[in-house]
Amino acid sequence: MKRLTMAVFVPKQYLILVGVLLLHLVIAVIAVDYWTIYRQEREILATGANVILDPGHGGVDPGALSGEVKEKDIVLDVVLRMNKYLEEHGYSVVLTRDEDVDLGGELSKGRHRRDLEARVSVINNGQVAVSIHCNIIKDPDQKGAVVFYQKGSEAGKELAASLLTELNKVQLLNDNRPLPRENLFLLRTSKIPTVIVELGFLSNQEDRTKLQEPAFRQQLAEALSRGIINYLEQEIEN
Ligand SMILES: [Zn+2]
Repeated sequence: MKRLTMAVFVPKQYLILVGVLLLHLVIAVIAVDYWTIYRQEREILATGANVILDPGHGGVDPGALSGEVKEKDIVLDVVLRMNKYLEEHGYSVVLTRDEDVDLGGELSKGRHRRDLEARVSVINNGQVAVSIHCNIIKDPDQKGAVVFYQKGSEAGKELAASLLTELNKVQLLNDNRPLPRENLFLLRTSKIPTVIVELGFLSNQEDRTKLQEPAFRQQLAEALSRGIINYLEQEIEN
């Protein structure tokens, strides 16, 4: 029996056409690949961001006091609300405390310093850190929020400015510029962009009343969270 051999005749033009089509296909596959990698990187940057939130004081240390109103309670409530908002928006958050405790250990000399050192050791594991406080001062007319950053830290200044932009939408600003500080332990020893936010003055009647309202604390929490998110998104673009 004779074996049938089939000779396929393909005109040269068809070969060129197939070649061109294949080249297009390869380019398309590479483009999709790059796009996917780019999207994944963006996602990792957005969701992998370690935001450290530090509610000031706690436990034996009430912070600023005005009658029954304690700084440590107000700042913890705002931070818990920020934590929820940021996590809902895909950001990983670490808190230096999530209950009414201080981080200084036993009540002895140097407790305050140990408390701050413990906070900084948590902060240094993150990408950005925001420490939340309330102000108190003799002059009862001083009111509004202020944001401090470490003098000389461009990143700290940018983070502070980003927070002020959003804070300005919900709370009066005592000073609308980021305020540089040289000698605040937390800012000075932190290795990542860190700011201290004073939400308002407990020594001012208007601020004190507002800070006691859960709805206002929610507004503050959302504004501060948006400020953090805007800063982080800016970082990805640069
Ligand atoms: Zn404080």
